[in-house]
Amino acid sequence: MTSLPAFPSGRRLGLVIDLDICVGCHACAVHCKEWNTGGHPAPLTDRDAYGPDPVGVWLNRIHTFEADEGEDVRTIHFPKSCLHCENADCVTVCPTGASYKREQDGIVLVNEDWCIGCKLCSWACPYGAREFDETEGVMKKCTLCIDRIYNENMQEVDRLPSCVVTCPAGARHFGDLGDPRSAVSQLVAARGGFDLMPELGYKPTNKYLPPRPRKTRARDIGAPRRLVPAGNAERLLAKWMDRIFTR
Ligand code: SF4
Ligand code: SF4
Ligand code: SF4
Repeated sequence: MTSLPAFPSGRRLGLVIDLDICVGCHACAVHCKEWNTGGHPAPLTDRDAYGPDPVGVWLNRIHTFEADEGEDVRTIHFPKSCLHCENADCVTVCPTGASYKREQDGIVLVNEDWCIGCKLCSWACPYGAREFDETEGVMKKCTLCIDRIYNENMQEVDRLPSCVVTCPAGARHFGDLGDPRSAVSQLVAARGGFDLMPELGYKPTNKYLPPRPRKTRARDIGAPRRLVPAGNAERLLAKWMDRIFTR
C-alpha cells in the first residue's frame, strides 16, 4: 500500500449512502448511466442491450443481499461505485499517469487520452469499482459527476452527482467529508457511518450508514454483469457484508 501525498486543501468530496433506507430501485445507477452516456463523446458501452445476455459499463452498481433470519428473510441493497480512496492504489499502479487524484477535492479520475488500457488499476482496486470499456479500449469510473458539481450553467440545486439528485428514497448524500462540520460528516458521526473494508488500508472517502443490526447472514443474489470480471471483489464484498450483518 503506497500512500499518496496529503492533498493540501483537506477537502474530500464523497458520498454517504444509507443502507437502512435504500430500496434497491436502481434509479441511481440508471441516471448515472444516462448522464455519462447522453451527450458524451465516449458513451458508456452496452452490448446486446436488448438481447438475452446484455453486458455493459456501469459506474454505479447495486448488489442485493438476502439475509436469512430463520422464519424471516430480509433483503438489503448495497449501492457501490468508486469510493475515491485516500490511499488509492489504482492511482499509484498506473504506468502512464492516466489515473490521478485531484488535490483540490480528492476526486479520483482517469484521463482517457493517456490510458493505454492495461487494466492494472482494476486489479489494484479491491472494490471492483473500475470498469473497462472494451469498445473504447480505456478504463472508466465514477467521476463524482465532476461535470455537474462545478457546472455553473446548471441551477445550483442540480449541482450534485446524478445518483444523489435522482434517489427517490433520499438514501444518498453528497458533501465534504474532509470537513467535520459538514452535514455529511455530522450524519456519519450521528449514525455510526463506516468505511467499506477498512482493514485494506485504502481509506475510502465514501461512507455507508449501517442497516439496523440483526443476527443474520447475508448471501449475494446478484449484480449486473460487467464486461470484465473484477477478480475477487464481489466475493470479498459478500464476505464483508456478512460481517456487518452479524456484528
Ligand atoms: S474505489 Fe477503487 S477505483 Fe476508486 S479510488 Fe478506491 S481503489 Fe481507486
Ligand atoms: S488501464 Fe489506463 S488508467 Fe488503468 S492503469 Fe492502465 S493506463 Fe492507467
Ligand atoms: S436510487 Fe436510492 S434507493 Fe434506489 S438503489 Fe440507488 S441509493 Fe438505493
